[in-house]
Amino acid sequence: MSSGSSVADVSALRRLPSVDQVLKAGPALAAVERFGRAEATEAVRTALDAARAALRAGTPAPVDAEGIAAAALAALAADARASLCPVFNLTGTVLHTNLGRALLAEEAVEAAVAAMRSAVALEYDLDSGKRGERDDHVRDLLCRLTGAEDATVVNNNAAAVLLVLNTLAAGRDSIVSRGELIEIGGAFRMPDIMARAGTRLVEVGTTNRTHPKDYRGALSPETGLIVKVHTSNYRIEGFTAEVPPKELAAIGHEAHVPLFNDLGSGTLADLAAYGLVHEPTVREAVAEGADIVTFSGDKLLGGPQTGFIVGRRDLIAAINKNPMKRALRVDKIRLAALEATLKLYLDPDRLARRLPTLRLLTRQPAEMAAVAARVRPVLAAKLGEAFTIEERACKSQIGSGALPLETLASTALALIPADGSGRRLAALADALRGLPVPVVGRVEDGALLLDLRCLEDEAGFAASLAHLEPA
Ligand SMILES: *Cc1c(COP(=O)(O)O)cnc(C)c1O
Repeated sequence: MSSGSSVADVSALRRLPSVDQVLKAGPALAAVERFGRAEATEAVRTALDAARAALRAGTPAPVDAEGIAAAALAALAADARASLCPVFNLTGTVLHTNLGRALLAEEAVEAAVAAMRSAVALEYDLDSGKRGERDDHVRDLLCRLTGAEDATVVNNNAAAVLLVLNTLAAGRDSIVSRGELIEIGGAFRMPDIMARAGTRLVEVGTTNRTHPKDYRGALSPETGLIVKVHTSNYRIEGFTAEVPPKELAAIGHEAHVPLFNDLGSGTLADLAAYGLVHEPTVREAVAEGADIVTFSGDKLLGGPQTGFIVGRRDLIAAINKNPMKRALRVDKIRLAALEATLKLYLDPDRLARRLPTLRLLTRQPAEMAAVAARVRPVLAAKLGEAFTIEERACKSQIGSGALPLETLASTALALIPADGSGRRLAALADALRGLPVPVVGRVEDGALLLDLRCLEDEAGFAASLAHLEPA
């Protein structure tokens, strides 16, 4: 750096306003009004530090009180967006675990909000005026919808599996086929969960074939459970054999060993009736003789994050006595949302309209094409010459490991950099994620794909896009 610019910087540094001077500038007053004095003062200090550093480095920066205050206000506004903010899920995966899985029905949202705002009869029986149980709000509904004798609810399905194994098989054997030792994602691996639950894993059969004799040979006085795990997120195809749940239940019952079926997603409605592929229903699993069935609340069921345990009354009673149950229970907010969600299943005719998960899964390609026609000009106006936009047929996924091989015909808008630049594409993806309501798509073959299956709020989408800086 030349000594000349150094001298200029020193005098400019001396002329920088004080924190108090900056706080009197218009944008700083606005910042105090919006975010409070402590936050505004802190932001002004940071902006002054940045101005000082810029002057020392010889890079341009605002050095007057007004400019520094404006920088402080902009920084505060940028931080104001909640970290857990709503996003547009245009990834094409309907039940996206990283984007929060199921969207709740309006009925469930209203019930949750009401429970947040006021006292509720969570563990209080309004008829008798005596203590009640939190499961009372959903037990009868779950029994009705699944045909099970009894039911309980915990934090998620992982918790349900842990609690069942710990209650019914701690210190004893749990027999599982080698073809069903699943990993769900993250650290949820069946062998590890079994170890933590304190049960001994007894693997039977092979990866592709397991026979009745394999289970029979493993039964002993040490057996606590036979475990069947729905291989929800993969398929073993080709030369395969598994023991159907009905036969497995019979094998267990001969030896007085309960059958535990972890359905994973599970569904309360027959999806085939809505034009989707049949996924085993909880009712079927119960009818096939499973003594305990576990499944998720926020996968295909379309409710809040919860785990269900349904089945034999004596086994559910034992599960409820396990001290771990208290550590895994759900709060009033989710319970309210859950009750409202389950009630929607009592009216299958209107379910696909009211339950967002089912509504989005059953959305027809023509609807997505119509959305594409409407939002394409909005995108084109924003992206200008830098990108070409193509309407493309694409495949949506169900997600959450449910029906992993099924895809649903959908329509995407493909945003393609006119100069083919990968950097430009990445910059666009970044900019869309930086919007007030971030837009999350997926990059595929040099294009950013926006799958329109889950785009319902088109006005909100356009409003968010209005903040996109021209490329
Ligand atoms: C998804 C899944 C789980 C875990 O359920 P969460 O609701 O994510 O806790 C357990 N078992 C199976 C078979 C699953 O598919």
